[in-house]
Amino acid sequence: MAEYPTDPNCIFCKIASGDIPAAVIGETEHVVAFMDAFPSSRGHTLVIPKAHYPNLLEMPKEELQSFMAPVQDVTRAIQTAIQPDGIVLNQFNGKAAGQTVFHYHQHIVPRWQGQDRRSHGKDQADPEELKAVATAIRAELDWER
Ligand code: 5GP
Ligand code: ZN
Repeated sequence: MAEYPTDPNCIFCKIASGDIPAAVIGETEHVVAFMDAFPSSRGHTLVIPKAHYPNLLEMPKEELQSFMAPVQDVTRAIQTAIQPDGIVLNQFNGKAAGQTVFHYHQHIVPRWQGQDRRSHGKDQADPEELKAVATAIRAELDWER
């Protein structure tokens, strides 16, 4: 059993435990980084805490402390690996704000000059392409996995 809260019905808990597949970039003791399956751009990444909390407001402070530095690591790895012109970090709290998966997560969305903005959560990406970009990002990340 995990020593942190999980929800057996939560899709991100299942990704964190490996029960459902995802294009995983890597993990630390506290977080998992993987490709968004319905991305708004190439390289669209999600970072989640392994512990299940519905949103930012409910995250314990000590969990946040072990969360944001890995988010920065992944953002830097994305910058080096695929060289976007900019990177947007989004995070939604509550249905009215656009949240659809109620396990706290940070979106990291690479952007290129002149490229149209797609909404997230709409069109499914090719799993092989997601794996390839995850591999490229992982190569720039000095995590264990
Ligand atoms: P939210 O709107 O809750 O901030 O975003 C949830 C995100 O999770 C969406 O961008 C959506 O594409 C992504 N997502 C939903 N289900 C899955 C899944 O099964 N696997 C992966 N990798 N991403 C998912
Ligand atoms: Zn969860």
